Amino acid sequence: MNDLSLRGVTKRFGATAAVDDVTLDIPGGKFICLLGPSGCGKTTLLRLLAGLEEPTSGQILVGGRDQTHVPTHRRDFGMVFQSLALFPHLSVGENVAYPLAIRGTPRAQRRARAEELLSLVQLSGMADRRIHQLSGGQRQRVAIARGLAIDPKLFLLDEPLSALDANLREHMQIELRQIQTRLGVTTLVVTHDQKEALTMADIVIVMDRGRVQQMGAPMEVYRDPANAFVAGFIGTSNLLPCRLLDPATLEVSGQRLPLAGQDRVKAAPGPAILSVRPEDVRLGPEGLPARVTFIRDLGESVQLVLDHAGQEVTALFSPRERPEVGIGETVALTFAPGGRVVLAP
Ligand code: ATP
Repeated sequence: MNDLSLRGVTKRFGATAAVDDVTLDIPGGKFICLLGPSGCGKTTLLRLLAGLEEPTSGQILVGGRDQTHVPTHRRDFGMVFQSLALFPHLSVGENVAYPLAIRGTPRAQRRARAEELLSLVQLSGMADRRIHQLSGGQRQRVAIARGLAIDPKLFLLDEPLSALDANLREHMQIELRQIQTRLGVTTLVVTHDQKEALTMADIVIVMDRGRVQQMGAPMEVYRDPANAFVAGFIGTSNLLPCRLLDPATLEVSGQRLPLAGQDRVKAAPGPAILSVRPEDVRLGPEGLPARVTFIRDLGESVQLVLDHAGQEVTALFSPRERPEVGIGETVALTFAPGGRVVLAP
């Protein structure tokens, strides 16, 4: 298992810093999801790790060894690209064994390893098929098997599931995670889908404008976002302008709101942003006045969209706790103690 360290890694393209002074320490054997909006630098960071780009400055270490200037083919990493990049003129087995062929592994050994990997990705007996005879999900598995052929020190995947339809995608997320758990290979997946990241990852790294905004366990990042960007990007969050009067008191729309010990305060007294997850919004006899603008029945949950002083607030209830309210009614909003995060503006 190989630890991964980045020390002040920066990559500039002209005036843009696609990756801006990134320092990270990730323990070996983890499943890491690199998450962020389009253009935040995820792919560039992955390409730097793979050796497909050279950093403008900084250092990349894997298993304690400096890889910064080691050429791609000497890094012994596995890669899966969004396009999959499978070879149509080779059989499934030859595709899987390709990284071994270019390393000069004898044919019989290649064949055995391809069979082993195909069974790992549940494609036993398909070694002699052609790529065009496979479904999208099966091709995905071939690309994963090929990425694992050399027993990589680091397994890097760029949006590997984005071409699949929703059902298959969810299935493959679970499968990919199970394969990684079995092999224990340090794995880094780029995705812009926060649900995918929360499903698969041990560690989520949220990026914006070339910088790491937060790194942590998925639930930690969800429950305890470091800033308003992360709160808004991961899951649904209600972000309300407020004022922190003192570390234990908040003022929202002129109403004082005492904070509880489990609430998290990450702002200095003064203007701030209150972040509350939809599942932590409650309707009470007292609270902030809000009008119900929409009710969405999702079967497993009921979503209420409300308007408080021109601000949209989303609340989520289980069907059994469904409040007896209708569209247009005015209600009072409160927030569950422990569900409030006060962030810097
Ligand atoms: P997406 O989710 O859309 O793929 P991303 O987070 O992977 O986005 P990157 O592809 O890493 O983002 O790009 C980060 C920034 O660097 C963008 O502003 C992009 O335009 C710029 N960039 C990336 N590659 C190059 C390049 N080869 N030359 C010039 N600019 C580049």
